Amino acid sequence: MDKTPLFLQPAFHEKIWGGTRLRDLFGYDIPGETTGECWGISAHPNGPATIKNGPLQGMTLDQAWSSHRELFGHYSGDDFPLLTKILDAKKDLSVQVHPDDAYAREKEHVPFGKTECWYIIDCDEGSEIVYGHTAPSKEAFRQAVEEKKWDSLLRRVKVKPGDFFYVPSGTIHAICSGCLILETQQSSDTTYRVYDYDRPGADGKPRELHIEQSIEVANCPHHDPELTYHVRQEAQARFTELLREDYFTVSHWEIRGHADPIQKNWPFLLMSVLDGEGTLVIESKNYPLKKGDHLIVPSGAESVSFDGTLDLIVSNPV
Ligand code: ZN
Repeated sequence: MDKTPLFLQPAFHEKIWGGTRLRDLFGYDIPGETTGECWGISAHPNGPATIKNGPLQGMTLDQAWSSHRELFGHYSGDDFPLLTKILDAKKDLSVQVHPDDAYAREKEHVPFGKTECWYIIDCDEGSEIVYGHTAPSKEAFRQAVEEKKWDSLLRRVKVKPGDFFYVPSGTIHAICSGCLILETQQSSDTTYRVYDYDRPGADGKPRELHIEQSIEVANCPHHDPELTYHVRQEAQARFTELLREDYFTVSHWEIRGHADPIQKNWPFLLMSVLDGEGTLVIESKNYPLKKGDHLIVPSGAESVSFDGTLDLIVSNPV
């Protein structure tokens, strides 16, 4: 079976809150001056990535998923499960919440809810996110929303580069101005906005809010999940497992020389190069890697190693 990694051409999305760092820092050919999202590893119909190399060159990831499931370890399901994005928040994103699988299927007729997680690649000094809320019950949450008590309702958390946040479905959240984030999430585009700072959208009118849905799906009260990182330090590399939960595992790999990091218990691997350059070696074939690359290492790639100086976010579906 072919073990060529699938290098992907991202899909880009303009957003009222976006900027130019996807071009300035990653060299992507972005479509405008307010580009908010790079969907690097995506088979979602709203922005599928395209395979750039190998026998499947020119195919979108969803087409490869449908026609070459052997590359994905015959992982089950009609839809590719994950989505990896880089977000450039020049301005604040709306305060929002996402449904779980059951709600998304019943109410939106889409296959997945949206549990997500964020690795903070870079941010301005003093940057914040909104993460959770203070209401003790659904009723108190509804009342605070209806009375627009945003300052007391929303929990603001300071962030710095390298921080990691797990955002299960039902978590009230907002990525705020200054943050550059790699997001690993379920393959979903279902967002309920509860507050958008009363600002105009791209057409001058306020963007739609989804107050009732937000109240329905918000976790009340909010609980901070407990995260335990598992670190494996080797002579020339450090592997930090940031998260292992219902939908995915996510790790940060820092390679400073040579490393043979691969464990075998994954159906396929999603990789995004945050920084550096180097070489991925799969069964004696070399594939150059550079900052901004997004790729999938297919199932059955047994002998995998790296050379170079590389910071990667690596994930796989569970
Ligand atoms: Zn979100």
